[in-house]
Amino acid sequence: MKPIEFADVVVVGGGSCGSVVAARLSENPDRSVLLLEAGPTFSGVADVPAALVDASMLPVGPGSEWVGTYGAELAPGIGRTIARGRVLGGSGAVNGGYFVRATPGDFDAWPQSVWSFDQVLPYYVRSETDIDGCGSSQWHGSRGPMPVARTPENARHPLTAAFVDSAVRAGFRMYEDMNAPDAASGGVGAVPLNIRNGTRVSAALAYLLPITGRNNLRVQGNTTVASLMFKGTRVIGVEMIVDGVRRIVRSDTVILSAGAVHTPAVLLRSGIGCADDAVALGISVTVDSPGVGHGFSDHPEITVPVATGNDPSATSPALEAVLHAGDVEIRPYTRRFDQLIHGLPRGPHVVGVGLMRSAGRGSIALRSTDPFEAPEVRYRYLESEGDRRAMREGVELTRELLASARLSGEVAAPGTDDPLSALGTSLHLSSSAKMGPESDPVSVLDDHCRVRGVEGLLVIDTSAFPVVPSRGPHATAIMFAERAVALMGVEPAE
Ligand SMILES: Cc1cc2nc3c(=O)[nH]c(=O)nc-3n(C[C@H](O)[C@H](O)[C@H](O)COP(=O)(O)OP(=O)(O)OC[C@H]3O[C@@H](n4cnc5c(N)ncnc54)[C@H](O)[C@@H]3O)c2cc1C
Repeated sequence: MKPIEFADVVVVGGGSCGSVVAARLSENPDRSVLLLEAGPTFSGVADVPAALVDASMLPVGPGSEWVGTYGAELAPGIGRTIARGRVLGGSGAVNGGYFVRATPGDFDAWPQSVWSFDQVLPYYVRSETDIDGCGSSQWHGSRGPMPVARTPENARHPLTAAFVDSAVRAGFRMYEDMNAPDAASGGVGAVPLNIRNGTRVSAALAYLLPITGRNNLRVQGNTTVASLMFKGTRVIGVEMIVDGVRRIVRSDTVILSAGAVHTPAVLLRSGIGCADDAVALGISVTVDSPGVGHGFSDHPEITVPVATGNDPSATSPALEAVLHAGDVEIRPYTRRFDQLIHGLPRGPHVVGVGLMRSAGRGSIALRSTDPFEAPEVRYRYLESEGDRRAMREGVELTRELLASARLSGEVAAPGTDDPLSALGTSLHLSSSAKMGPESDPVSVLDDHCRVRGVEGLLVIDTSAFPVVPSRGPHATAIMFAERAVALMGVEPAE
C-alpha cells in the first residue's frame, strides 16, 4: 500500500477555473497544492498538442481524446450527445475562443455582498491583457494572463462582413468593444477572442503551464475523483481512481472545479444532494442539499442554414462577430460545423440563434455511483411560451438580415416549418450547484463559494454561478475563479 499523500489544498478538475485556482493558490510557496485532472495533462506549454491550440478548429468531434461526452435530453424527444473538455484546460481548451464578458445587469442576480458588477470588474481586468489598444481604458487589463483580441475589420470572413453590414443597415448599433459595459444594451460588434496569432489560449496555457515548475504545485492527470471523504461534516480528503486503482489523498481544503456537469456529480456521489435520491442509490447522506444538480441554466441555440457561395477560409475562428438583439445572440459562424469539427457529417453552413436569457431550468442526476458513468442531464429547453416566441423572433430576424446581406453568392434560409425542430445547445451549462442566500432552499453555496453544511469544501467553477450569464460564460469563468480565490484571502502576487 502506498503511503497516503497530503496536500494543503486539493483542486478537483484542471479546467478553465481549476487552472486559475491552482495557479493563484500556489503563488504562496508555503501552501502545497495538488491539482487532480481526469484527462491528460502536459508538463509545459511546449508539450500541448497542436490540435488543442489551433483556434480554427474545435477538437471535440467523434473519437476526440480531449473530451468526455454525456447523453442529454434538450426537450422531450430531443436527445443529443454533448462533449465537454476532459483535458488540462477543460472545456476552455477545446472551445470556440469567444471571450465576451457578462453584462453589468447579469450580476444583479448574484449575491450583492461580494459579486456586484463593481466588485467583479477589477477581476475581469486582472485576468486579461487586451491587445487591441483597449488596454489603457478603465475596463481593460494590460498585464493579465489571458490575451484578448478581435478580428480586424479588414481581415473578416466574407459572411461576417456581410452580416455586420446588414445589421448596421437594419439600424443596429455597432460596437468596437463588446466587453465595454455600454455594449450590454445590444448591437453588433467584433467578438473579443482569447486567441493570439491563431492560438487558442486556454487558462491552462495562460495560467498553469508556465508555472508547473513550482515545488509546491503538483498536477496529476488521468485521475478521476470518485468522491469526497469526511470526518463528520469536515472534509478530510478525496478518493480517486488512478490507472484503475482506487487511492486517497488527505487534505483539509478541497476545491471542486470539475465543471458544471461533474462537480454536482462528485457532490452527489459524496452524499451532498437530495437525501432521498442518495438513499435510493445506496449513498450515505452527508448533507441534504436539494439544490445540487437542480435548476441549471444554459443557452438554447437554433441554427438557420445559409448558402453563402463564398470559399470558406481555413483559418478564421468559428465566430468573429455577433449581434445582440433583445434576448437573442445571432452568430454568423465562419464555416460549416463539419469544417470546424473533424468527424462530423457534412451539413449546411449555418447562422446560430442563441437564447441568452432562457426561462428553462434543467437537472442533473446520477444514474449510478460509478464515477465513469456520465450523469443524466435534462435541459427542459423552450418549455415556456416566452422562450419559444423569443426564439422564433430571433430566427425571423436572422432570415431578414441574411436576405438583405450583400453576399457574393445566393443566400438561402430554407429552414423548416418549425424552426424549433433545429434545437441545439450552446454548451454553456452553468449554475448546477449555485451560490445564493441561505433562505433559498436550492442554493448550495454561500457567497464565498463554500458548500453549506460541511467544512473545508468549496466549489469554484461555472456550477457556482447563480444563473448562466447573458453572454458566453468563459470570460466570466476566469474572472470568477480570480475573484473566488481572492475571497479566500489570497490576492495574486503583483
Ligand atoms: C465545445 C465547447 C465550446 C464552447 N465554446 C465557448 C466559447 O467560445 N465561449 C464561451 O464563453 N464559452 C464556451 N464554452 C463554454 C466554456 O468553455 C465553459 O463554460 C467553461 O470552460 C467551463 O469552465 P469550468 O472550469 O466550469 O469547467 P471545465 O473547463 O469543463 O473544467 C472541468 C474540468 O474538470 C475535469 N473533471 C471532471 N470531472 C472530474 C473528476 N471526477 N475528477 C477530476 N477531474 C474532473 C474535466 O476533465 C475538466 O478538465 C464552450 C464549451 C464547449 C464544451
